[in-house]
Amino acid sequence: MSASPPYLEVAVAAPLPQTLTYAALRDGRVAKPGQRVLVPLSGRLLTGYVLALSEEKPEFRLKPIADLLDDFPVFPEKLVPFFRWVARYYHYPIGEVIRGALPGGLTSQSGRRLKITEAGLHYFQREQPQLIQDTPWLANLTANKKLSAATVRKLWRGKERRLIEQWAEQGLLTVEQIISGASIGQKTESCVLLAQEAASPETLASLKPSEAKTLALLEEMRTPAAQGIPRRELTALYRGAGKPLAALAAKGLISLVERPVYRDPFGETPPFFPRPAQLTVDQENALAQLNPAIRQKKYSAFLLHGVTGSGKTEVYLQAAETTLALGRSVLVLVPEIALATQLEAHFLSRFGETVALLHSGLARGERFDQWQRVVSGEARIVIGARSAIFAPLGDPGLIIVDEEHDGAYKQEDSLRYQGRDLALLRGSQGGATVLLGSATPSLISYQHALSGKYTLLTLPARIENRPLPQVELVDLQAVNTVSGRPPLFSPQLKQALRATLSRGEQSLVFLNRRGFAGCMLCSDCGQAVQCPHCRITLTLHKGRGELVCHYCGFATNSRTVCTNCRSLNLAPIGFGTERIEEELTGMFPKARIARLDHDTTRNRQDFLRILRAVHEREVDILVGTQMITKGHHFPHVTLVGIVWADAGLGMPDYKGGERTFQLLAQVTGRAGRGEQPGKVIVQTHQPTHYSIAAARDHDYPRFFAKEMGLRKALGYPPFSRLINLVLDGEQEEGVQSRASLLAAKGKSLLPRYRRTAILGPAPAPLARLRGRFRWQILLKGPDLEELHGLCLELEQEQSRLGAAVNLSVDVDPENML
Ligand code: ADP
Ligand code: ZN
Ligand code: ZN
Repeated sequence: MSASPPYLEVAVAAPLPQTLTYAALRDGRVAKPGQRVLVPLSGRLLTGYVLALSEEKPEFRLKPIADLLDDFPVFPEKLVPFFRWVARYYHYPIGEVIRGALPGGLTSQSGRRLKITEAGLHYFQREQPQLIQDTPWLANLTANKKLSAATVRKLWRGKERRLIEQWAEQGLLTVEQIISGASIGQKTESCVLLAQEAASPETLASLKPSEAKTLALLEEMRTPAAQGIPRRELTALYRGAGKPLAALAAKGLISLVERPVYRDPFGETPPFFPRPAQLTVDQENALAQLNPAIRQKKYSAFLLHGVTGSGKTEVYLQAAETTLALGRSVLVLVPEIALATQLEAHFLSRFGETVALLHSGLARGERFDQWQRVVSGEARIVIGARSAIFAPLGDPGLIIVDEEHDGAYKQEDSLRYQGRDLALLRGSQGGATVLLGSATPSLISYQHALSGKYTLLTLPARIENRPLPQVELVDLQAVNTVSGRPPLFSPQLKQALRATLSRGEQSLVFLNRRGFAGCMLCSDCGQAVQCPHCRITLTLHKGRGELVCHYCGFATNSRTVCTNCRSLNLAPIGFGTERIEEELTGMFPKARIARLDHDTTRNRQDFLRILRAVHEREVDILVGTQMITKGHHFPHVTLVGIVWADAGLGMPDYKGGERTFQLLAQVTGRAGRGEQPGKVIVQTHQPTHYSIAAARDHDYPRFFAKEMGLRKALGYPPFSRLINLVLDGEQEEGVQSRASLLAAKGKSLLPRYRRTAILGPAPAPLARLRGRFRWQILLKGPDLEELHGLCLELEQEQSRLGAAVNLSVDVDPENML
């Protein structure tokens, strides 16, 4: 037997730039890479993740780790280089990268769960009642209460540990190793079991009325012996059942047990989608290039550019089959829960049990279960939102990024990563095929496809050669009204809605802004009511009677006063989806109208319910935001109305043109996916804008050429790279002067970074957010290594200057808010 390697490289879950080295446990228990440990650090015990083992003796004496937190690794060793790269590239502490990558339940420190056995209960209650009275934790255990993780840890370190171990040997209690708090691990439910033998007459005569009532209820609810009656079902009938239950248990008439509950994240059985009898020629071509690449088991990257409704999903499914047949696994990223449903349903229908889901729509416990299925290898296909890029799959051979252009792949706080970029990185480190799919590829991906860095696969036509919908632009400036202001609905859109209704077909009405009105405007001073924390206009939500900040969530009663002059003369202006819904109801009182946005879909169930209603043709007109644009296949939708196409063009943002094109093309793509052809009406103030005109003509290459020309002229990505440094703090002057100091420092360093420019310091477009003032400094240049070098030096300067002002680094920023 060889000696275990005595030194461990540990990433501590704390804001430390480096990893730390510890000695192994003295008792001989070995930690492996990927395992969680407890480590001492400046007088505290913290969670750490073992990255590597080494036998090389360091120069100085090292402290040993304090404990192992789990019996097995929580991520595969193969992910270690990935985590290292992510930490370095995004300038983020590696321990926090890993902590963020693990599901919620895994981040708490915990280790063991104590449970009293049936035998223990009898033993302590009958033979050692004094011991129970003198020992609070034992009293809790015998009353079937859970001990907190902290209590168990304390007992385990104290003199009680020997006693506990002794009792465990005698079978009086059990010690379970768990990797998280009891509420996060396998979820359990308290149940009541009735005693097998009938109680003696003396015992029955000794019962208090409440106890007798409880027992009678339990007798009525009796279940087969082993199953138990859920405690919550009993207390639903009799709220005071808690105390009598404990008394009945003490008298041996019943026992209380914990039973595991299975959590089903899929919610309902998905529909069955048959495998198509025949692939289209373009699908065949795509797979003829993908399959050999997958079988090579080397890194390769593909961009699947397929118009909406061209059958990209079937290509994903068959590429996944090829990968599974090689014994490798598949990772599928989708923009967010909205999109997940269609794709998810197809994967579940084709692959069933082997699919795991990881996304933010899951409850913590569900997420934890899914994670466990992946770690254990039971699930070999993972579908998830951007954070699923960290899924603990051992050997993904195919990584799919659906709708790769979608902004939801960029995380905008803490670790500001781009999930699509990380998919390419993980693929290249792990020898996988990476498949990016979109009807409207991001500029950067299309450029890589043209330059040969990725292989371009195209699906230029819709399935069964259904035509792409005909798009009509309506110039809002040219629509005459009495008030002189353009109406929400042009005569063209109204007429088209009426015609669609009369044919019994469905319409989608799209506006990328929720709420009722844009804002409340003061008739006296002309200012809009603003969020007191963010300097952003509040949005009116009429149903809730509230003005809401869409940045920080601040909400106030809509009958408020002007934040500027305290006048009461406020009037709603602008419009949101809620207002659109109301106007439509007024115009078409008989139509069945539904709305899909963040306000109507607080959870996944709501979301699925609305989608199902549309599918089952219980809805005539669906009003919605972004949410309706993503990947849904509604065969009976023949009209799409876009209320105001220009919403994204006025933003202080170099990507406005790209976003607008993508959005219009995606919404447009919802029409005419079934038997009947589709029609789209786009209302706009800028009918000649290249993004809008190219979307009308379904002309991606024309849009691409125009947008690339503009980016080149302005020196924006992909012709340069950016790192944005955002400073925030409570004092405005403090933040501003820190920004000036750092920018000056940066400029003094520029002779060593000759190809880099520093823009700013300037107030961030969101100059105040959640009560904090914000300034930014933008590093820009063609040489990414230079940008990283300069950024590191500025971070050092920042830590020298102190933490009164906070610095966050955004590498490859997409929204410079
Ligand atoms: P996309 O993701 O490219 O917008 P989908 O994958 O949703 O398109 O495909 C559109 C529809 O065509 C779906 O209902 C799908 O089941 C169907 N489909 C895909 N491939 C084929 C095929 N080869 N033959 C018949 N129907 C197909
Ligand atoms: Zn005012
Ligand atoms: Zn706010």
